[in-house]
Amino acid sequence: MKDRLCTAHIAVPAIGMCLHCHKPYCEACKVETHYGKFCCFDCSGKYAAFKATWKEPKLKTQWFAAMVSGIICLALLAEALAWAGHRWLGISALAPWDLVSRFFP
Ligand SMILES: [Zn+2]
Ligand SMILES: [Zn+2]
Repeated sequence: MKDRLCTAHIAVPAIGMCLHCHKPYCEACKVETHYGKFCCFDCSGKYAAFKATWKEPKLKTQWFAAMVSGIICLALLAEALAWAGHRWLGISALAPWDLVSRFFP
């Protein structure tokens, strides 16, 4: 950061780059929060608001869990239909899918 100067104080060398707007800032401008270092309170506030509303990883996990449980439900339903179709209705085409009769004859 030796070659860069603070955006607000053009004579002062910058000590870092704002996490929100990526502008260089000096020691006097620095705003430090638990999210990181920023050039001003405006940027730290905007970044905190962005982080507070950003919940994508959690949503992704929920979506994935819903999809997996949906697939398991569909597989169980298909298996129940194959078992009922083979055992009760005598549909021989369903025999390869009738895993219940194969394991519990
Ligand atoms: Zn900034
Ligand atoms: Zn400054």
